[in-house]
Amino acid sequence: MSAQRMFMLEYGTELVPKSLSVLGGSDKVIATPIYGVVVETSDGLVLLDTGINAAALADPQTLTEIYGADLHPWGPDGDPLKVALDRVGLAVSDIAVAAISHLHLDHSGGIGLLTDAGVPIAIQQAELDYGLARAAAGTERSVAFLAEDYTRADICWRGLDGEAELAPGVSVISTPGHTPGHMSFRVELPQTGTWIFAADAADLSENLFERIPCGSVAEPDDAPKALASINLLMDEGERLDARVIPGHDSVFWKAVWHPLGGHR
Ligand SMILES: [Zn+2]
Repeated sequence: MSAQRMFMLEYGTELVPKSLSVLGGSDKVIATPIYGVVVETSDGLVLLDTGINAAALADPQTLTEIYGADLHPWGPDGDPLKVALDRVGLAVSDIAVAAISHLHLDHSGGIGLLTDAGVPIAIQQAELDYGLARAAAGTERSVAFLAEDYTRADICWRGLDGEAELAPGVSVISTPGHTPGHMSFRVELPQTGTWIFAADAADLSENLFERIPCGSVAEPDDAPKALASINLLMDEGERLDARVIPGHDSVFWKAVWHPLGGHR
């Protein structure tokens, strides 16, 4: 069964050395969009990744600590998740379930607003366990996690272990490496077919077509998993004749048509 339609959401822009996105890449700083997806399904709206939040964007000390003094990201006026949903006529309280590819701050920023609205949050249990252990040790910022995004006691987590269906036409693919419990998303639409959203398993198209893993892994021992995840995404893409979408690619983002009524 497929989902009904899908909107892409833009949360902001960040500046990163290309070497973070592509193993062996240069130190050249590239501007990369932060984006997510909301999918209309027969079980309600499913939000895939939540962006960075207004509090983080307004905190220069945190941004310097995580990105570097000259590389602060930016977003819209207002909270990025609210603004992005509003652009497509939706509100946070309309979401039935959200999913977080991984706990980096440019993906976890909406958890608080979603929790305020009573929305459950799907995540790989391995990612949550890792993030909570890092927070308990006080070392989460060294891997670009913000404890304040994901340690609230009232978050309604839906812990996943590998592949899972979130709603009819929306499922997750386990793609560890970039972080220990990273996951990607698969969306089936009635007219445009299968879309695979790599998230940060592949920031750029280059990661995909050259099969080069991400340049940044939270745990050095996970580097082989990052390449295995790229191979899995490309193999799944071929098997399903899917569009495989990189997670932070400005060329993709500008080139794709964002129809006002959503993709169908
Ligand atoms: Zn990331």
